[in-house]
Amino acid sequence: MKRRDFLRLLPAGVLGLAAANEWSGSAAGHEPSTQPGPGTAAGPGPHWIWSGPNLHETADGWRRELERMKGAGIGAVLLTVYNGHRAFFRSRVAPVAAPRLEELLPLARAAGLAVHGWMWTLPCNDPDIQARHPEWYVVNGRGESARTHPAYVPYYKFLCPNRAGVRDHLRNIVADLAAVAGLAGVHLDYIRYPDVILPVGLQPRYGIVQDREYPQYDYCYCEVCRRKFRESTGMTLDDLPRADVRAAWDRFRYDSITGLVNDVLAPEVRQRGRQLTAAVFPNWRNVRQEWSRWRVDAVLPMLYHGFYNAGLDWVTARTRAGRESLDPGVTLFSGLYVPHLAPEEVPAALQAARAGGAAGVSLFDARAMSETHWRHFATAARA
Ligand SMILES: [Zn+2]
Repeated sequence: MKRRDFLRLLPAGVLGLAAANEWSGSAAGHEPSTQPGPGTAAGPGPHWIWSGPNLHETADGWRRELERMKGAGIGAVLLTVYNGHRAFFRSRVAPVAAPRLEELLPLARAAGLAVHGWMWTLPCNDPDIQARHPEWYVVNGRGESARTHPAYVPYYKFLCPNRAGVRDHLRNIVADLAAVAGLAGVHLDYIRYPDVILPVGLQPRYGIVQDREYPQYDYCYCEVCRRKFRESTGMTLDDLPRADVRAAWDRFRYDSITGLVNDVLAPEVRQRGRQLTAAVFPNWRNVRQEWSRWRVDAVLPMLYHGFYNAGLDWVTARTRAGRESLDPGVTLFSGLYVPHLAPEEVPAALQAARAGGAAGVSLFDARAMSETHWRHFATAARA
């Protein structure tokens, strides 16, 4: 129960293995409408939605679901294509669970929806990688590898962004995905370090008090990171108590993720003519994710207010702060966590995002959208 709650609640890179397993194990919880979506003649909506691969859904079921999304004002679907273990497209790099992406692209095109390939980036639960490259995994401040001592939950096995082998591996997965014909874009999730501090609303659930950064949640202290830090700054982690060394060490880790996005992954996406987007944290320092400096087309901050013990005014404030931190050419969609919203609150949530300057919202996730949610969403999206 505890772990399931965490998996469901963690805004971190949202969803994942548990969710993918649930989808592949049962179609329960995903009941497509048998009614045509309202307003199917409406133009392309500005809003996006995250969706799992839902392997047991039929083509007809998906067709209805996609048409309903489109009719309600959704313009793009972020479809799970890689969960850090298995691929849901015809990957030549990762083990393939099913070619869901290739099956859905024509249906989405017919419905008038763009499809972005939603992939986990740094967590790697592929047993083959764990066996062949144990050194690829991040190491915490106690010297423990995330491969053997993952923080919080068993799937928190993150790779080190500074390892050449890791960068090549991720570059290959992204290049492979970006080559899929008809794909609108690559959507990076879990493009970050493990949370050094969890969102405040989540800590009590797990009996954790994180009033500061503790070494067991703080990454990456592997020998490659230590060496690169020393080479680039002239400083050593032995002097970490010094404020200037601490600041440089934080900067080094922000830049490690930014470099992975801008220098390694973005070129692979751009040269294939795809968009690049990312799911990001509002409290970016806690995951070393300085997304305001990323060369992406859009960011989708996960403004899951319930995890931060906040209301919808917080969604507006964090949307505005994110918007102000970005270059004008980068689009921002406010990520909304549907289980935190009663159906009748959906219009206010859309308004909160608009008030902060968002181009639209991105709903997490398709499975959480009830018939009533959809009805309220469609009305608000047209307003
Ligand atoms: Zn490292």
